Amino acid sequence: MKDLKHLYYFENLLQDVNNDLVRQAQEEGQTVIGITCYQIPEIILNLPGCFSVRMRAPRTGSMEMGTYYMTSLTCEYCRAMLERSLEGGYQFLDAMISPASCSQLADCMENIEVLKLCKKEKFFIQHVDTPMKSDENGVNHMIKMSRLKVLNKLKEVYGIDTSDDALKKAVALHNEVCRIITEIGEYRKEENPRITGYEFAVLCLITYCCPKDLILDKLRETAEELKTREPDKDYKKKYRARVLVAGSECDDPELIKLIEEAGALVVADRYCFGSFPGRQELILNEEVDILTQICQQTVIQCQCPRYMNTDRIQERKDYIDQLAKEYHADGLIYQQMKFCNFWGYERAASTHIMRDDYGWPVLSVDRPYVVGNSGQMRTRVQAFVESIEIKKIQGGDR
Ligand code: SF4
Ligand code: SF4
Repeated sequence: MKDLKHLYYFENLLQDVNNDLVRQAQEEGQTVIGITCYQIPEIILNLPGCFSVRMRAPRTGSMEMGTYYMTSLTCEYCRAMLERSLEGGYQFLDAMISPASCSQLADCMENIEVLKLCKKEKFFIQHVDTPMKSDENGVNHMIKMSRLKVLNKLKEVYGIDTSDDALKKAVALHNEVCRIITEIGEYRKEENPRITGYEFAVLCLITYCCPKDLILDKLRETAEELKTREPDKDYKKKYRARVLVAGSECDDPELIKLIEEAGALVVADRYCFGSFPGRQELILNEEVDILTQICQQTVIQCQCPRYMNTDRIQERKDYIDQLAKEYHADGLIYQQMKFCNFWGYERAASTHIMRDDYGWPVLSVDRPYVVGNSGQMRTRVQAFVESIEIKKIQGGDR
């Protein structure tokens, strides 16, 4: 396929958390807030005057220092972030919002705080307790936390306008981004998709890592370009299977590239930093308070295994089944960051349930944070693709 005009530009932006657009917005007086987890409603961090940046650690090499503080038996994403903090890589941030959703994340943030690794005068880390259940109580708790711990603090320290009007503007911006990403993502349903999973992963991740208003033009142009893009003619030779990727957070499109190079086109993304959930519009109504609607969307849509009510455990499987059917996947890849508690049990159970009860071929892998060059991962995906092909030859549906 012809290269997307702005893909290289976007790829370059992803090489650094403090990228050109983040710097530009900050020079224009915007407050930058680092976030690490889907459970904090992204919309409330993108009010006029501030914006959120998903904290990543691109080009991570050694994690020795992070490991020293957190031990080698913890999630590498958290260790990589701590390492990057120790190197001074998050000095540009004005604040970090730290959810208590995952204890390893909380541990990482506590280290950053105790070691005083971000030195801006007004810098703060706000620890936010997130709900364990996605029911009405959970929503109410999230509303309270969002108001007390996030909005009030942003207003108090940085003078951010947290009024309903400001929230409405943030929702409008969020919706604009979501409309474009959804339009682009829909092409993955095509029999011969005009966009690869890797390209989509780059475009989607960009929307979490840059001030949204500064990427809109190029995103719109990309959506326009895709309307007439000719798909590859040798698609079937290159990709011998279509897969949905689910699991713990993935902030590195290189993982998707590796899977595709091994022969499986990634047609749907069900992980944090992906589009399901995260890039769905919020259509506001006049009856319910805006903050409530924002928190409802976050809590109800959230697919985090931290939610342990039985109906949500079941719903997570149904959601993946439904997405995989909608995007015409042949199989599922459950990937999990090594030592991730939540996805440890979710992946173990889902691997069997999705295979035995739902009939999907499933590849189940744990992985390091930096995975782009993993020969082991490549081999496992190749073997999975072959097993799907054999099933098809033998006449199985999936
Ligand atoms: S898997 Fe759960 S805890 Fe981890 S980032 Fe996603 S929402 Fe947060
Ligand atoms: S991958 Fe798992 S352990 Fe690591 S931060 Fe996310 S939820 Fe926590």
